[in-house]
Amino acid sequence: MNTTTDKPRVVIPIAVSPDKSPIEPPPDADPELVSLYEAHKKIYPRSVQGFFSHWRWAMVWLTQILFYGLPWLEWGQRQAVLFDLGARRFYIFGLVLYPQDFIYLTGILVISAYSLFLFTAVAGRLWCGYACPQTVYTEIFLWLEKLAEGDRSARMRRDAGPWNAQKMGRKAGKHAMWLGVALVTGFSFVGYFTPVRELAGAFAHWQLGSWEIFWTFFYAFATYGNAGFMREQVCKYMCPYARFQSAMFDKDTLIVTYDAERGEPRGARSKKADPATLNLGACVDCSLCVQVCPTGIDIRKGLQYECIGCGACADVCDTVMDKVGYARGLVKYSTENAINQHWTRSQTLRHVLRPRVLVYVAILAAAVIAMAVSLTLRIPFKVDVVRDRGALARIAEGGRIENVFRLQIMNATEATQQFHISVSGMPGLEVVSENDVQIASTEARWVAVRVQGPMEGTEGAAPGSHTIHFEIKAQGNVGTVVEKAAFIVPR
Ligand code: SF4
Ligand code: SF4
Repeated sequence: MNTTTDKPRVVIPIAVSPDKSPIEPPPDADPELVSLYEAHKKIYPRSVQGFFSHWRWAMVWLTQILFYGLPWLEWGQRQAVLFDLGARRFYIFGLVLYPQDFIYLTGILVISAYSLFLFTAVAGRLWCGYACPQTVYTEIFLWLEKLAEGDRSARMRRDAGPWNAQKMGRKAGKHAMWLGVALVTGFSFVGYFTPVRELAGAFAHWQLGSWEIFWTFFYAFATYGNAGFMREQVCKYMCPYARFQSAMFDKDTLIVTYDAERGEPRGARSKKADPATLNLGACVDCSLCVQVCPTGIDIRKGLQYECIGCGACADVCDTVMDKVGYARGLVKYSTENAINQHWTRSQTLRHVLRPRVLVYVAILAAAVIAMAVSLTLRIPFKVDVVRDRGALARIAEGGRIENVFRLQIMNATEATQQFHISVSGMPGLEVVSENDVQIASTEARWVAVRVQGPMEGTEGAAPGSHTIHFEIKAQGNVGTVVEKAAFIVPR
């Protein structure tokens, strides 16, 4: 139990003198009551329409069509995107990746990181405001909440009012819809790791494995909790990105900004009143920008770390400006320099393309090109060679030395491939076992390979370990892989 929520703690600041002994507060000083716990105030964001809101909904549709739809897409004989952890294969459209392809995951992470740096340097928390799953699911859950319980004021009235049948019905309807979306989300997530059609059948007959049950309900629970209840608290207290974003901002980063010079002094006025004669700025102090804010902050206080850059306040302020007949853009995407130096839009955009941004673009372009080239030139099979520990070097028939190796050949294509195995590195060395191998599509197979070489003598090698090379060639000029191994010649 958190006792800090029950009553505020009495805090008496203790000062320390230069000789490190505490300085007692004066006897007549009143102890100050300071609560170290700020009770969470529920935020009721008002719905908003406008340019940025339309973009956010476009991103909601795009990301969710991709997320929910991709597992159902077929590619050849299989699911287009499937991360089969059990078989240790990732299928991404025609690409079959093995654990040995870890470098591509590194490449994707590097590209994602630099994209984030670039977008943040250009326009602040674009990811947070438009594409982050927390924002996207909160937007969906808010929409469902509005459907069941009405907009902000109706929800606030209902929450403050007594429980009755109507309130219970609406709340139950909202939670049922939230749970439905959460479960579909959990199911879709697991559908990336288990073939989704089999998963749907298993769900219908309730024949799910423990792994599928755990992850479906865990992911659903996380979605329900984060988008339904935690909302802005995830952004404010849990997400590490909110903490280091300021390191990526500078005075030429586009951020949602209130033009204080134009807006202040703020104040209510009649629509017909002339603000100049009333000595008022453009802000009519309607507080709508605060009411629409999903994190409950007031953009007029300047940039705050809670701001996720969603632009909702800019949208609503534009509608207010339209109503009172003032120019739009009192709250807008702009830069600190542009606001302070009264730059035009084109001047602002010119400064956005600064050296730091160009460096990010260059690194990002290099990473994307390197990844594309590497994927294009990738040989579509892999080979691992290990010595057969059960059979060390032995003298074979005819007095030749024989070593046995095990080759794992991994076919990284969706078609059967034929391979020819040869060996080099010592005079007279040859593969004496079957050296033509067929591997089915996306299969990996261990092949025992017997290699023989002459005894020490005229053409034989001296006793010891000798480096040799296996050459595994795929038919049809698909490519050749050369792998190193050690051939042991006994004394
Ligand atoms: S919405 Fe615009 S006019 Fe209304 S309080 Fe906010 S900044 Fe002022
Ligand atoms: S201050 Fe404006 S941009 Fe920032 S989170 Fe609130 S509504 Fe979104």
